[in-house]
Amino acid sequence: MKEIPVEKNQEFEVTVEDLSYQGRGVAKVDHYPLFIDDALPGEKILAHVMKASRNYGFAKVVKRYNDSPDRQLNTESAYLQTGIAPLQHLKYDAQLRFKQGQIKELLHKAHLDQITVAPTQGMAEPLHYRNKAQIPVRMVNDQLETGFFRQRSHQFVPMHDFLIQDPRIDQVLEVIQTVLREFEVPAYNERQHNGVIRHIVIRRGHYSGQVMVTLVTRSRKLPAGKQIAQQIMEHCSDVVSVYQNINSAKTNVIMGRDEKLLAGKAQIEDQLNGIKFAISPRSFFQVNSLQTEKIYQYVAQTAKLSGEETLIDAYCGIGTISLSLAKQAKQVYGVEIVADAIEDAKRNAALNGITNAEFKVAAAEEQFAKWAKAGLKPDIVVFDPPRKGLETKVLESTLQLMPQKIVYVSCNPATLVRDLKFLTENGYQVTGPIQPFDQFPQTNHVESITVLSRS
Ligand code: SAH
Repeated sequence: MKEIPVEKNQEFEVTVEDLSYQGRGVAKVDHYPLFIDDALPGEKILAHVMKASRNYGFAKVVKRYNDSPDRQLNTESAYLQTGIAPLQHLKYDAQLRFKQGQIKELLHKAHLDQITVAPTQGMAEPLHYRNKAQIPVRMVNDQLETGFFRQRSHQFVPMHDFLIQDPRIDQVLEVIQTVLREFEVPAYNERQHNGVIRHIVIRRGHYSGQVMVTLVTRSRKLPAGKQIAQQIMEHCSDVVSVYQNINSAKTNVIMGRDEKLLAGKAQIEDQLNGIKFAISPRSFFQVNSLQTEKIYQYVAQTAKLSGEETLIDAYCGIGTISLSLAKQAKQVYGVEIVADAIEDAKRNAALNGITNAEFKVAAAEEQFAKWAKAGLKPDIVVFDPPRKGLETKVLESTLQLMPQKIVYVSCNPATLVRDLKFLTENGYQVTGPIQPFDQFPQTNHVESITVLSRS
């Protein structure tokens, strides 16, 4: 067996060679990789080994001898430590290059170097962009606090400026914290699995300014729940909906299945590219509204619809892409696995007077097989799958559906490249460069759009 060349608590002077896809510096000791937070390529550091497993280890910076020209100075360590903004120490233009570079590197490893990648389209203001926050709540010195957990630990860090979320969300959060303290509502205690408030989830419509608050509780018991909701609404006139969501499981999943409207409306409304959307507490809605509009515009631009096309929107959520394109197409079909989201999609079609969009609750892999069997011949398929990418069954049915064009919106370059390999080996070719969009500035997430056509 190979010897591990480092031990926990040893210190080494190393030069960082690379940045991992998670945004950690990578340095080597006798070919053994150490992953180091807050360390950039070209920086020489004194590293303290925190953990050494068989094939790689984790270390922290004790001393940094030089700064990379890409280093963003004067950042706050809490955002790195909590994982809220793991790329905060990288200048924004370098973040954009890093994201483009990741797709390139994966294409290279898959021997798909002929596919090119355009520069990442970033934000003019790459902070305060999130329209949704999910904030853990705990007791600190007998007082209810909102904050965040340190990465790879259960240490709670109270926090008041979350850097990447809508600043109005931060303000509403402060008010909720004060109200919960006044009503002496205890926070959840994970170890003992007692207490009441686990998380506070806040959503704010980027254009409408309407705010939805969801208090996630351990059990149905929320003493004075209605009064708490009314107090919050009294102090914040833009809060139009307050929910209680019940999550009694011992889990990291934030929301449970059961919920109760405490005050106000059942949904908030917002828009994307002028299309209105009603949003329920548990429906998926893209968190970066400005960049999402750009992405949907890019999809529309590359789909080049004439009004005669049949289009499938796979993994459609609440129908955002379907409804953005419906007016320029003949018929749109959306498929999505979450039933609530499809309810929202249907409601949203009606809200916008759109009658040529049909939505199905199903796993894409099953619905695609059905459509193939029924002989549906879509002109275009838009894919927007979760991180795991497309199921083999979906890819196989796509070959039977034979769309002339595929527009693939991806939030995970690794599965994108895997799926492009399949599609390019089976009659499709990538037209033009892959276009990355920065949906999640200050984080390592990479979103991109690829257009393919049948050769
Ligand atoms: N296009 C939408 C949602 C994209 S997120 C938007 O832009 O807002 C991906 C969606 O895929 C989620 O709504 C998720 O519920 C759904 N999903 C996950 N697995 C699925 C499957 N196997 N079949 C269909 N939909 C699925």
